[in-house]
Amino acid sequence: MAYPRPFREHMIKKIIDRLLGKPSAAPKATFGKRRVISEKEHRIDHELVDDRALNVVRTLQERGFEAYIVGGAVRDLLVGLKPKDFDVATNATPEEVKACFRRAFIIGRRFRIVHVVHGRGRDHEVIEVSTFRAYLDSQDAEQVSGNERTSKKALSNMTHAVDASGRVLRDNVWGPQDEDAARRDFTVNAMYYDPHTGDVIDYHHGFEDAQKRVIRMIGDPAARYREDPVRIIRAVRFSAKLNRLGFKLEPRTAKPLKAMLSLLADVPQSRLFDEMLKLVQTGHALASIQQLKVLGLAKGIYPLLDVMVERADTPFVSAAFQDTDRRVGEGKPVAPSFLLACVLWADVREGWHARTGQMPIYPALQEAIEDVFNARIGDVSGRGKLAGDMREIWTMQPRFDKRTGSGPFGLVDQARFRAGFDFLCLRAEVGEVDIELADWWEEFQHANDDARISLIQAVKPAPRAVRADGSEASRKRTRRRRKPAGGAADGNQPA
Ligand code: ATP
Ligand code: MG
Repeated sequence: MAYPRPFREHMIKKIIDRLLGKPSAAPKATFGKRRVISEKEHRIDHELVDDRALNVVRTLQERGFEAYIVGGAVRDLLVGLKPKDFDVATNATPEEVKACFRRAFIIGRRFRIVHVVHGRGRDHEVIEVSTFRAYLDSQDAEQVSGNERTSKKALSNMTHAVDASGRVLRDNVWGPQDEDAARRDFTVNAMYYDPHTGDVIDYHHGFEDAQKRVIRMIGDPAARYREDPVRIIRAVRFSAKLNRLGFKLEPRTAKPLKAMLSLLADVPQSRLFDEMLKLVQTGHALASIQQLKVLGLAKGIYPLLDVMVERADTPFVSAAFQDTDRRVGEGKPVAPSFLLACVLWADVREGWHARTGQMPIYPALQEAIEDVFNARIGDVSGRGKLAGDMREIWTMQPRFDKRTGSGPFGLVDQARFRAGFDFLCLRAEVGEVDIELADWWEEFQHANDDARISLIQAVKPAPRAVRADGSEASRKRTRRRRKPAGGAADGNQPA
């Protein structure tokens, strides 16, 4: 197959460098030695391999391209885990991949890949197909003086570019498989599995490392963190995810982590935010928090993550993490808005608490929420839906106390009712509200209309208004208080 232009240019530059006697930036040894591990040796369980990934590999191979399952999926298969997603690597360019499938989309700028989409709606599945990347040393790459934002124009025509610190801003030069392997992060993430021959291809002793339970960075760890500081967070993620199987970060890989932390300051916030969510929403939130502490990274990756670590041992946040891990383990969906609402609930409650007695319940809650968003605006700005969902979860809480009239009927019909209710259950779990209240809503939401009416009738009248400090409000004051919007009964309080 003819290699595309960027790769040809890269090869020509290499040849000229060689003619000029310039030492090659990347000696061939960097690329490791190809080793083929047969099915008899690796014993991957075929049942764990996704049919859609198989289909993508087969389609590409039938069109004459090389194609493999790659990366984390191979790592997981080798240790008997069911991969949560499947990535495919090929020597076809993104355009060629796109032409092979009916629903395929080229995405990304820094790193162009193709999303091959199967199915629709909630059940849709995306297989990420990436073209083998050429290994390029920072010295070979074009350098821009600014960052992703300030150098947008200059970057638009570049296929491989780094900033002054060596951080990779564009990584779109195609190359052979051994070079592709060398630019992956950890040895256990750099293997290729051909499901049709059954062979696993390994250049960096990833197979041995998987057996020895070692997470080892390919090449010089410090240089690799500098190229892409997000690898710092990935190191934490994999050591958390694989911890229960006995995996440990190789000391050389772990050593520079803390010192490199400041490099994360230049990474776009949205990428950090996504990586943070992967730490806490992929089924090993508690393990991730523990690893962050063990590795000395409890502070400094991302402001919201700092808050998570600080609060991880409080009953409410700890219950939220446990709940999230359990849900992911059971294959249930988890929403970032829910976990973030849990993490920031202490702030909302505090602000709400401080205002009760001075103003009606709803405006007090709204103001408290506003304060929390203002204080954290940088963290969730530009994420309208996420913030909207968090707001809804919080503002629903006092409405759970109102179990009279048509209120409960309206509440269960709300689109975000389930999230609000799950939040209420967590509050009940830690003793913030009566468990009876959560049980009542559990029954109510599943009951038919007649049973719902009986449930409402059976509710004892709400106690008289109670202030934040626990004392009963005087009748006079209760009468004078405006009826809060949404109709929450007096007597509710931020528990
Ligand atoms: P997970 O099980 O969480 O999906 P993964 O290893 O598959 O983990 P992905 O983010 O899906 O991680 O990436 C797929 C593969 O792409 C990785 O296994 C690795 O080989 C490569 N990769 C991803 N991100 C980087 C990076 N920042 N630097 C180097 N290689 C990377
Ligand atoms: Mg993956």
